Amino acid sequence: MKHKQNCPNCPDSPTRQVFVAPEGGRIVQCCRCGLQFAEDYPEIESADTEIYGSDYFRASLEEQERRMGIFDQLVGEVESVIGRKGRLLDVGTGEGTLLLAAVERGWEAEGTEIASVMVHHIREKFGLTVHQGVLEDLDLPVHSFDAIIMNHVLEHVSDPRITLEKIAELLSPGGVVRIEVPNLASLSNRGKNFQSRFGLKKNPWKHYSTDHHFWFFTPRTLEAALEAAGLSPLSISAPAKQWGGKSSVDNLANALYRKTLWGGHLVAYAGI
Ligand SMILES: [Zn+2]
Repeated sequence: MKHKQNCPNCPDSPTRQVFVAPEGGRIVQCCRCGLQFAEDYPEIESADTEIYGSDYFRASLEEQERRMGIFDQLVGEVESVIGRKGRLLDVGTGEGTLLLAAVERGWEAEGTEIASVMVHHIREKFGLTVHQGVLEDLDLPVHSFDAIIMNHVLEHVSDPRITLEKIAELLSPGGVVRIEVPNLASLSNRGKNFQSRFGLKKNPWKHYSTDHHFWFFTPRTLEAALEAAGLSPLSISAPAKQWGGKSSVDNLANALYRKTLWGGHLVAYAGI
């Protein structure tokens, strides 16, 4: 295990303990910007097989058809933000469904993925371009992507600041990055934090998923992370459901969550 003790947003700031993870290791909070993170991060060589083996992707593979619909809408949203199609990079593409959705919508899209089992799957099943490895180690042309997507990836990386600085380097002028992470400040997580803190929960802190999540963002700390890496935040929202509900009650709840930033999905757009 690698030791990590500094906040990527403000390296000189002290931290305080939030809780000790069930797997061992502490979850701490930066005393300056408030970002919460795991103090230890596993070496990436072991993460490829120990965390991101075929079991990790089983649910995604089984739900590929439903995910195709979601990602078609997600890429459509990106198109409406930048007003055109072009070159797209899906960082941590997993089983490759988002990549496929982008290609089918007419994007020139490629992906990155550290899990070798998924890299082979994407190349053989879809014949799409996917670069194996950690984004910051890949040799990709600078300022060449009109859209970069990190869908539930930033909470997994070894250092968000290094990852986001690489994204700033890869974005074309006028291009945007769309980042989605779990929202630690969601209404649901606020309740679970309270229950965990006061011993009212059977499995306290389970909602942090500390076996494969290492960074725990709120709207405020995600914005700080973007700015620390030299990106310009364009919008931050927190919908309860990704693409609206089926009923008017769902839609009303979603509008409220968007306004209060209390939904479970934290979505940020940023440019350079
Ligand atoms: Zn900080």
